[in-house]
Amino acid sequence: VIVLGLESSCDETAAAVVTAEREILANVVLSQNDAHAPFGGVVPEIAARAHVTEMDRLVDQAMTEAGLSYSDLSAVAATAGPGLIGGVLVGLMTAKAIASVAGVPLIGVNHLEGHALTARLTGKADFPYLLLLVSGGHSQLLVVEGVGRYRRLGTTIDDAVGEAFDKTAKMLGLGFPGGPAVEKAAKSGDPDRFDFPRPMKGREGCNFSFSGLKTAVRQAREALGETAGEQDIADLAASFQKAAVESLMDRVGKALDLFNDEYGPGRELVVAGGVAANQCLKAALETLARDKGVTLRVPPPKLCTDNGAMIAWAGIERLNAGFTDTLDLAARARWPLDPDAEPAPFAGY
Ligand code: ATP
Ligand code: MG
Ligand code: FE
Repeated sequence: VIVLGLESSCDETAAAVVTAEREILANVVLSQNDAHAPFGGVVPEIAARAHVTEMDRLVDQAMTEAGLSYSDLSAVAATAGPGLIGGVLVGLMTAKAIASVAGVPLIGVNHLEGHALTARLTGKADFPYLLLLVSGGHSQLLVVEGVGRYRRLGTTIDDAVGEAFDKTAKMLGLGFPGGPAVEKAAKSGDPDRFDFPRPMKGREGCNFSFSGLKTAVRQAREALGETAGEQDIADLAASFQKAAVESLMDRVGKALDLFNDEYGPGRELVVAGGVAANQCLKAALETLARDKGVTLRVPPPKLCTDNGAMIAWAGIERLNAGFTDTLDLAARARWPLDPDAEPAPFAGY
């Protein structure tokens, strides 16, 4: 089984070829960072145009690197949502064209399912596992019961954690994308200089909140005024990162207690999404996992941020489970993983 996977839901254009034996034959990712950097965030129209310009070339490159022709494929998978609709359409339409010409099944993948199943491509993760999904658009805790079977324990009531990293970077003048920039600046900073709030800490349930923390960083930055130097910025970055990670740990700890009560100890905690690339978060999760008696699985950073391999792999898992789609499949801007999930109640700060 060999699947081509296409990703274009945000600001990465990506194509990859993956086998059921977990071999990544090609994984080409083109980031549009330079195009969006002047705006400090992703501009949907610029993103969609870039996907149109680059997707064919990237598919070609991935197939050449894999040394395959379209007739060798078992299926073509593409992100069908959620995401910026202009971009999603580009990948999905390209996949439909290839699937129809090659005469192989089309598989529409939920981008979040791509992130959620990546740990099974790069190592061992047995269902059911607890998933911490932390990306630019999402912060969620989900029980992954199987392919296509997700139960949400918590979500953010305002911003996603990746968004908080990106906005903090923008406020501190650290550039875009913000996550890696904040992490780098934080290395030379004092994480205890600013006493930022740990949103939701000690609260009931497993929901997240990051907008109050973002406001606190902005106020601290403004209080420093024009004279703020490199060390001040590093201290702000380090203090923000520590607060964000501590807030996450409180929520994940709660979710692990619920998860362990239901399924027993000795299972796995999987982290996915771009923020999973953060080494400070990873270190904190390792300690927490040990305390709670679960094994931590974090895919390598390159497969945590958006890529085609995770979409190809989710396609393989869906193909194996018997889920394929027809060529009239619609692209979706919104598409929750847990169909029963109510929108998170606003719990205040
Ligand atoms: P979604 O998956 O929710 O649709 P997305 O696809 O834009 O959103 P990803 O590509 O999975 O998100 O992740 C990008 C996010 O990860 C950005 O917000 C980025 O700042 C953050 N990120 C990347 N690397 C790091 C890091 N080292 N530390 C913290 N955050 C990081
Ligand atoms: Mg991105
Ligand atoms: Fe993503």
